Amino acid sequence: MPFYEYRCNECGAEFEKMLRFSEADQLPACPQCQSPQTRKKLSAVASFGSSDSGSSGYASSCSPRGGFS
Ligand SMILES: [Zn+2]
Repeated sequence: MPFYEYRCNECGAEFEKMLRFSEADQLPACPQCQSPQTRKKLSAVASFGSSDSGSSGYASSCSPRGGFS
C-alpha cells in the first residue's frame, strides 16, 4: 500500500497516511485539529511497478526506518 502525504489547510499540519487504493480518494481528517480541510500532496511512491534500473532502487525511496542494507 502506498503512503500518501497530506497537508491540513486549517493548521498547516502535514501528516502521512497509508491507504488502500479504494480509500485513496478520501481525504482524512487532520490528526491535530480534526479538520476535514486537508489535501493530498503528490508524493506517493508506490513500491511496485516498473523498476527499470534493475539495481536496488527500492532503498532510495523515502523509507526512513529501513535499516536493512
Ligand atoms: Zn489541522
